[in-house]
Amino acid sequence: MKRILITGGAGFLGSHLCDRFIREGYHVIAMDNLITGDIRNIEHLFPNPNFEFHHHDVSQFIHVAGDLDYILHFASPASPIDYLKIPIQTLKVGSLGIHNCLGLARVKNARVLIASTSEVYGDPTVHPQPEEYWGNVNPVGPRGVYDEAKRFQEAITMAYHTYHGLETRIVRIFNTYGPRMRLNDGRVLPAFIGQALRGEDLTIFGDGSQTRSFCYVDDLVEGIYRLLLSDYPHPVNIGNPVEITIKEFAEEIIKLTGTSQKVVYKPLPTDDPKQRQPNITKAKVILDWEPQVSRAEGLRITYDYFKSLPEEELYKAAYHREFSTT
Ligand code: NAD
Ligand code: UDP
Repeated sequence: MKRILITGGAGFLGSHLCDRFIREGYHVIAMDNLITGDIRNIEHLFPNPNFEFHHHDVSQFIHVAGDLDYILHFASPASPIDYLKIPIQTLKVGSLGIHNCLGLARVKNARVLIASTSEVYGDPTVHPQPEEYWGNVNPVGPRGVYDEAKRFQEAITMAYHTYHGLETRIVRIFNTYGPRMRLNDGRVLPAFIGQALRGEDLTIFGDGSQTRSFCYVDDLVEGIYRLLLSDYPHPVNIGNPVEITIKEFAEEIIKLTGTSQKVVYKPLPTDDPKQRQPNITKAKVILDWEPQVSRAEGLRITYDYFKSLPEEELYKAAYHREFSTT
């Protein structure tokens, strides 16, 4: 039986990856300090003898007993609200955290796949973004703590590949959504749906002309699965290339939820990218992958999930569990 370590395994994406690898017959070790994750995302896996949960901060030395075939490094705050609130932890998990994972991988002779992001392209001047584009990132702006951590993470991963011959994979994830996102994480989809469910107006930042391209979580997981098992060590974009403005997206959510609320406009956050759309040619050619779930279908499933949550979830402020500030 193959053994896989998934850091950030109690988070939105990590928990879906745990489900997938359990289904594929792996022994899954989820490691998470629960800073932005939620144990409820993986609770259903606890009775499974092929599943383990380790409550641990991966920016500290990582110990895992026994063999490991694969390591997926997904631990990191991921929403702007989260990484602006815990910037130092974000930098640490993208630097010390990946260093620990790579060291562990060398000892275990495991293959490592890291969760990178479209944020490595910053506010892109090339559109859509191919993997060859180096990006337009402000290192000292508020988003720099996340963007530069992810860029460093790619650099150190590639260095371990080049200098130590470690097997590595890099996925650049574009905006992904689905069940188990936190209603209060500030990302645009839970923000809009939460506002609609509470009967509040939907807050558009800026004039809403900025674009994003939203990928349903099952499509992303399939892409990651194929990339891990491929022999391609260079970065691969995984995302849905169907692009939409945030204003159009708000209108879609208003229609989906049937809310009678309107949109209101708020200031655009600093360095908010104006456009984002993945060029997925590499994923198509190398992984024979492309998204299968339409936005209409994915949004319906996600809306049904949010509606099924206990009502008090709607009124929880953005939260973080106890954490140190350094
Ligand atoms: P999430 O916040 O739901 O999950 C992140 C998980 O990592 C949480 O469970 C959190 O508790 C855990 N974590 C954070 N720091 C840790 C540490 N030091 N030690 C152990 N665990 C730690 O966010 P997500 O959307 O699931 O994102 C997962 C990964 O995917 C992140 O690396 C993120 O940068 C990347 N990503 C996500 C998206 C997206 O659209 N969801 C886009 C691009 C990249
Ligand atoms: N956004 C918005 N209203 C909100 C939350 C976000 O208009 O309540 C915008 C945000 O400014 C950005 C886009 O939606 O332009 C996507 O934001 P998100 O935080 O989901 O992800 P990003 O792609 O910026 O990391």
